[in-house]
Amino acid sequence: MSCKSKTYCPYPFIGASLQSDGLTLPCGQYMNVAPLKQFNTIDEARNSAHMQDMRMKMLSNQHDSGCQCPAEEAAGIQSMRQSALKQFGYNPFGKLKTVELFFDNICNLKCRMCASSHSHLWFEEEKELYGTTINPTKYVKRNISEELNVLELEEIKIYGGEPLQSLEAEKFFGRLLEEADVSNISIDMSTNATKLPLPNTLEVFKKCKHLKLNLSIDAYGTLNDFIRSGSDWDEIVENMKFFDTLIDMRQGDTQLIVHSAIGIYNANLIHELNDYVKTEFPRFVKLQQMIQYPVFLNLQNAPDEYKKLIEPFVDDDTKRYMYNNIAHNYFEHFLNFHNKLNTIRSEEFIHNKLLSDFMATYKPADDSKQFFLDQIKFLVNG
Ligand code: SF4
Repeated sequence: MSCKSKTYCPYPFIGASLQSDGLTLPCGQYMNVAPLKQFNTIDEARNSAHMQDMRMKMLSNQHDSGCQCPAEEAAGIQSMRQSALKQFGYNPFGKLKTVELFFDNICNLKCRMCASSHSHLWFEEEKELYGTTINPTKYVKRNISEELNVLELEEIKIYGGEPLQSLEAEKFFGRLLEEADVSNISIDMSTNATKLPLPNTLEVFKKCKHLKLNLSIDAYGTLNDFIRSGSDWDEIVENMKFFDTLIDMRQGDTQLIVHSAIGIYNANLIHELNDYVKTEFPRFVKLQQMIQYPVFLNLQNAPDEYKKLIEPFVDDDTKRYMYNNIAHNYFEHFLNFHNKLNTIRSEEFIHNKLLSDFMATYKPADDSKQFFLDQIKFLVNG
């Protein structure tokens, strides 16, 4: 298919992101979820008026307002849309070739930038912190195994909760081994690197066409344990050693990526993790993505004085990103989030002196309640 539109993205045409709460989105980054809420099946959502309209826009040089990629591209950062274009090229609307699967929201961690939609451990804390929850129930689970025709798929991306501890994911991998030709399927999984694969999962990892494992790690040592509460750095290092052996176990193409979400907590110290990975795990790739939500962790919404302070420690991409949109300063709300969550979790922040010193000079907002509620309303309704 030839296509001249500069806004074309393959996902609405050949992809679907199957969220654990039953939503079917074009991709996991898509924000305008309200129009896609009333659909229960994958086909209904893909054929809905909203998705048809999105595809029409993408064929006529317009962006859809729910897409995050345009903002990343405007900041000079390689977007998910651009990566997908390289991988799949232009395709007409048709069978699902690529899917993102979110089996459930059960996680052993409660990372600071996460929410109850992806970690059930956030549910009670959101009540205390915001007075409401982002997900209406503590647990969500989708029986994806029965919904999908696994024979058509070329690529499966798996997210969580934590997929390496998910029994649903393990069952799905069992079905893949029985029904599909795993050697023709690429597997791309994001894991928090605190768990090792269960037997079916490991078998699929060994046999699949291409294996891409994204290990979500946001800092070196105890700062990672603080941001990704519940994790243990020493355990992560042992697990990284195991994942490294997968490269030798497999015959085929294997990519191990240490993937970091960059925000206010870690931007100035991420170089420590980058150096560690380069030295200790030279076969791993190191990638990073800027946090956009929650907005008070987004570097763009930090005060200019803080951006100036961290400038000598961040790379060019981060510098470009943080100065790309300076419409907001949400630091006073960040402080309320930070202080209250520390109290709820009985945690102390001693892991980033430059940030702690700056926080001590700044006054928290008198009241962030309405701000938090407005943010949640936007996240839930799009
Ligand atoms: S443009 Fe980006 S946000 Fe929109 S559907 Fe494609 S990958 Fe998702």
